[in-house]
Parts: sequence; structure tokens; C-alpha cells
Amino acid sequence: MQYVTRFAPSPTGPLHLGHAYSAILAHDMAMAENGRFLLRIEDIDRERSKPEWETQLYEDLEWLGLWWETPVMRQSERLPAYRQALDALWQRDLLYPCTCTRRDIHEAASAPQEGVVHFGPDGIVYPRTCHHKIGMPQSLTPMPEDVALRLDMSLAAIQIGEYRVCEGEFLYFTETGSGPDGETGQIEFSPDDLRTKVGDIVLSRKTFLGSYHLSVVLDDAAQGVTHVVRGQDLFEATRIHVALQRLLGLPTPVYHHHALVRDENGKRLAKRDDAKAIRKYRAEGATPADIRRMVGL
Ligand code: GLU
Repeated sequence: MQYVTRFAPSPTGPLHLGHAYSAILAHDMAMAENGRFLLRIEDIDRERSKPEWETQLYEDLEWLGLWWETPVMRQSERLPAYRQALDALWQRDLLYPCTCTRRDIHEAASAPQEGVVHFGPDGIVYPRTCHHKIGMPQSLTPMPEDVALRLDMSLAAIQIGEYRVCEGEFLYFTETGSGPDGETGQIEFSPDDLRTKVGDIVLSRKTFLGSYHLSVVLDDAAQGVTHVVRGQDLFEATRIHVALQRLLGLPTPVYHHHALVRDENGKRLAKRDDAKAIRKYRAEGATPADIRRMVGL
């Protein structure tokens, strides 16, 4: 099978050192294996995505010496695929509408009867307030599109069944080969973990069809990505992605989570951290080789 990697930036800010590291790693790994390097523009969030950032992304990546196949996949053009997957889950009674605000969730989760507030990859594990309002099987009504849709993880976990992801299939990756916390190898993730540590995640937002989790899983499968190279900050999200792949019958790529590029104070770079923007280094006369050195490559 051909080795396929991808870089999937969101055009919501400048490309900074952290992104450059991910992109170069994914690119170089594909090239080393005689594989393919793909680009995907994660622009489903139409409010935050800007065409100027997208143009700038291409310029910076080209300047870094990366080469990718065209046309690139753009999430804003993939809404029919997201709708189809959501519809299928809706028909399986796995989704339900949710009208809670962040504040509602916070208040409900901290109510005395709820006990400890659990945090999952998406923040507070949803206390299922809106789930209690479901009356008849969801599939008897058409799927609404103007409201957030959550995955009923209790039902989903049963359908996924207990699964074990083995070494090599789901592995930390850093330059030294050991995990950021020394963890490598098997990661077990039971239906109970999905229910209690992840909970009912949002699979479609009120403001746009789909969600990061749903689209990334569908897009990686549609692009035939065999190796996902991304930051360690997305490790917990990967658990969700593997669960969704099981649920949707999609293949699970090999995941390589690389260490994060940090600033001088050890803080991870934020999207809006213009100080580390590639275009700033370019303006100061840095070369692509300088950037590679700065990120430790
Ligand atoms: N679009 C995400 C970001 O810019 C990355 C998604 C991924 O690698 O799965 O942080």
C-alpha cells in the first residue's frame, strides 16, 4: 500500500513554526517512503476561515520547499459528504439535537448531583442534559440542520464494541522514538472509557454542518491517508477519531504524534502567535533551512 500523509491546516491565522514542523515532517516522511503528500484546507468554520490566510499558507509552504498534489481538498466543498454521514448516524438513532450553551453545560456539570466534573478531549464531558429530552426514536423525524447534533456515546460505544488498538497502529512518535510521556505501545480504550471520559461529543455544529472530529475522519478516509502526522496536542482527539472510524466502518491510519514546538518560555505556540509566523521569519531574511533548524530538523 502506498504511504500517504497529509497536512491539514485551518486558514484562521498565519502558519507558524509549529505548523511548519508538522508539514515538513509529514512531507519528508512521505518522500522518504516514495509516498504521496497531500494538503487539506480545514475551512468548515466559515466565520473564522479567511481566503487571505489560505493564500498565505500556500505561499509559506511553497517557500519551505514542500510539494503537494493538486487540487487540494477543501472542507468547505465537502458538505454533502458530511451530511450523508450525519444522516446515516441519525438513521441509526445515534445523534440527538442539543441546544445547550457552554454556560448551560458548565452549570449542569457542576450541579451537586453530578459529582466531579469530568474533562474529555473536547472540554467538560457533556452531562447529557438534552439527551433527557429525546422522546421517540430520532430517525422518525428528519435530521435538523440548524442545531448542534451530539453523538449518543452510550449507544455508539455498544455498537463499536470493545476494541484494542495495537502497537504500530496507534503510536506516539517523537524524534527520539519514545512517547512524550514515555508511553508507547498498546492503548486500551473500553466502551466505558468512551462513555465516561469522552462522552456525547458534538458531531455537527449549530453554525456549520459537521465538526472537526467528523470531517477529519471522513476526509482522511476519502483522501486515502495511511499515516497521520500531527501534534501531541491532538492525541486525545485521536481516540475520538479511532472510535468514529470504527463506528463508520472506515480504516484507521497509523498515527504519529510529534512533540510540540514551544516558545522560549516553554509555552506552546498559539494560532495567533504572530511572533512565530513563518512570514515574519521570511521578512527577516531567514531561509527554509533556517526554519528546519529552528524546529530541530
Ligand atoms: N486543522 C487542524 C489544525 O490546524 C489539524 C487537524 C489534524 O491534523 O487532524 O490544528
